[in-house]
Amino acid sequence: MTEKNKTCSTCDSKTCSAKKPIEGESPQEHAERMALANRMCGIKHKILVLSGKGGVGKSTVAANLAVALAAEGNKVGLLDVDIHGPSVPTMFGLTGEMASPGHSQGAIAPVKISKNLRTMSIGFLLGHPDDALIWRGPMKIGIIQQFLKDVEWGELDYLVADMPPGTGDEPLSICQMIEDVDGAVIVSTPQEVALADVRKSVNFCAKLGVRILGIVENMSGFTCPGCGKTVDIFKRGGAEEMCAKLGVPFAGKIPITPEIVETADAGKTQAAPPADITAAFKSVARKIVEAIGRRSA
Ligand code: ADP
Repeated sequence: MTEKNKTCSTCDSKTCSAKKPIEGESPQEHAERMALANRMCGIKHKILVLSGKGGVGKSTVAANLAVALAAEGNKVGLLDVDIHGPSVPTMFGLTGEMASPGHSQGAIAPVKISKNLRTMSIGFLLGHPDDALIWRGPMKIGIIQQFLKDVEWGELDYLVADMPPGTGDEPLSICQMIEDVDGAVIVSTPQEVALADVRKSVNFCAKLGVRILGIVENMSGFTCPGCGKTVDIFKRGGAEEMCAKLGVPFAGKIPITPEIVETADAGKTQAAPPADITAAFKSVARKIVEAIGRRSA
């Protein structure tokens, strides 16, 4: 039996937590948890990309991390589960794309971005890109669970999940639904108002037992293309200092550049941006892979 054909009933894993019902769990809830675990079973590494607040570049880092990992020859899935602002369709020129059926009953197939990179966005379930998601609490969580359960990823080296911002119910539920994650990447800008929220994300991970693979300082300095002078618009170095204080790994800095906005708005995140930006994201990806390696070692 190849890994590909493995199902929960043919799997002989002794450690899979999905097999055992949790106390108080109904048979229906257990069956759903098993179905989700089975979908994710062929994924070697799962990375959650979190931020304390919106607008700091979480989706940008998630997307570019996925692109950098795929460029190294890894099979990568980019899961956009940012239910209030799914940006992946725009960033990869997939606006208007709808989820299409997968091979197995009830499954949805990820969308191909490049040879090694596939994506699925909650945005593909919306009728129109401007449709707001107005589902209420439990319904929203149910839809997220259904969505996670239905995506047919197959075998992947890495799944990078672009999570909803903050530390509320939605990121909490998703963290609990995606079992066995390798850890989280937290994205912040360098100024104190953003860092205050990062500390909440760090505590959130600690409470859930999710390891922090690295904190990324985004929008860290701007070099004027005209005069070459660097201006620290949101300050610089704040996230790195915070990592040292909290004893969590620092994954690197990404400067502010107009090219990041332009490639995202043009739906060309997978196309090569300027070499220094590609190098900065590759360096972040290397640090995250190293952090995962330290865990597995
Ligand atoms: P979030 O997911 O945290 O809400 P996004 O990744 O959607 O944030 O980024 C918000 C906006 O900032 C987008 O327009 C994006 O292109 C832009 N942006 C993100 N990082 C940078 C950067 N390093 N330099 C310039 N613009 C950036």
